[in-house]
Amino acid sequence: MNLQARLAALEQRIEAACRGTGRRRDEVTLVAVTKTHPSEQVRLAHALGLRHFGENYTQELSQKAATLADVRPISWHFIGHLQRNKARHVVGRCALIHSVDSLALLTRIDQLAAPLGIVQDVMLQLSLAGETSKSGATPEELEALLAHARPLAHVRCVGLMTMPPLSASPDQATSIFAELRALRDAARANAPDLSFLSMGMSHDLELAIAQGATHIRVGSALFGDRRS
Ligand SMILES: *Cc1c(COP(=O)(O)O)cnc(C)c1O
Repeated sequence: MNLQARLAALEQRIEAACRGTGRRRDEVTLVAVTKTHPSEQVRLAHALGLRHFGENYTQELSQKAATLADVRPISWHFIGHLQRNKARHVVGRCALIHSVDSLALLTRIDQLAAPLGIVQDVMLQLSLAGETSKSGATPEELEALLAHARPLAHVRCVGLMTMPPLSASPDQATSIFAELRALRDAARANAPDLSFLSMGMSHDLELAIAQGATHIRVGSALFGDRRS
């Protein structure tokens, strides 16, 4: 299958999932995850109408954004683990950073966004499977993250992101997605900007849409298997 056929098949899955749960298609943003795939794939996908692209590595993002400077309009999303000392490659370049999980990173993003005169939109990544993972804050840390961000003038928390373990069963994934939604709903009282839910990938996007995903991050269903 070529990219056009894969995109058509993916669109059918997204539309069916929206229809099946009474949601409108335009409530769900498709973020095409292009990590490890060449810039030419981004160009092709853009020509087919995609506008949101997700990258995991700062260096790859910088290279692609430079190579594709003529491709407009385009929104880059950073979805990988972000180290503080790499944040400068991402702030101002990405419409949305999905993977913020520490107070120090929030501070760093605010410091970098200030001289650019921008407000950087971010999502807070939560680890909900109870396992120790290297990225993602715990639900107990969420309130502190939101409180820390509140006085920062150049960073805005607009949603929550999670990624179930690859080994999660469909039922486990569903309960993780439901928990993310419940955490957002509860936190919204004090954080009215917290509207988005970034959850769902190639294999579980239907489950995520059913639980209220506003952003699904899809790689292999569009671009095939990754080499790394
Ligand atoms: C790679 C990646 C995706 C896309 O995964 P697929 O299974 O290829 O759709 C989504 N989210 C994150 C954080 C990723 O690293």
